[in-house]
Amino acid sequence: MSQLSRNMEQSKEEQQRFQFARIATIESPYKEKFAIPRQPNLVNAAKGKVILCGLANNEELVRDIEQFSHLWLIFVFHGTQAQGWKPLVRPPRLGGNKKTGVLATRSTFRPNPIGMSVVKLDKVTTEQKQTVLHISGLDLLDGTPIIDIKPYVPYSDAITDAQGGFAQTEPNADVSINFTDQAQTDLSQYQTKYSELALLIEQVLSQDPRPAYKHNKLDDKIYGMRLFDLNIQWTFTGLASISVLNITRLT
Ligand code: SAM
Repeated sequence: MSQLSRNMEQSKEEQQRFQFARIATIESPYKEKFAIPRQPNLVNAAKGKVILCGLANNEELVRDIEQFSHLWLIFVFHGTQAQGWKPLVRPPRLGGNKKTGVLATRSTFRPNPIGMSVVKLDKVTTEQKQTVLHISGLDLLDGTPIIDIKPYVPYSDAITDAQGGFAQTEPNADVSINFTDQAQTDLSQYQTKYSELALLIEQVLSQDPRPAYKHNKLDDKIYGMRLFDLNIQWTFTGLASISVLNITRLT
């Protein structure tokens, strides 16, 4: 085979396209990107559902899955997909100002916008022909399309002496959180519907959801974040202390 035809073959392979159908959709308290933790299991009070769909909505596909405490969810970054990708990105773990190869990061702006998260499997239910995997610790936007689910297999997936590069350890979560009187009154109104709301807010905010370049800087801005159908307003009251100001239902 000549060099020319070898090159043509190669480029045909490179252009090959693959199509995958959605097998499930995520139901998540995170309704917008802002304040979603940057990896799974940093906020274990975040509970969500994997709603199986189409031909995958069949109990047989998940038979015996409850033997596993954790699952890999393979998904499409549907919320950023339209923005395309970049060879170099600025990971928040490097302060958001140093560029790194996209494939050396977990950035959403990848050549193929595919993500993978390990989540805890709490239970499986099937009601009125709808099979649902109940999960916690997710880092996924509401509506995220799932294209595959696999059991987490500790003997092979957990490599205890692995090198984690610039993300060797969990990010700091040492911001203290307090609720103003107004926020406490608001909380009591919503806590019947959302039983672990206070804990969820605390865990999310202790990650400091602001862009990385703002970390450890004084900041008097009032931020809003959306969890479920609620808007939560908060502000920094020191370098490492946040005050939750109020919680209101979005219309
Ligand atoms: N654990 C996954 C991984 O490593 O592939 C995701 C890591 S990525 C850094 C996590 C961020 O992706 C979250 O903080 C959130 O902002 C964003 N995200 C989550 N679900 C998304 C979606 N469906 N579309 C776009 N961005 C999403």
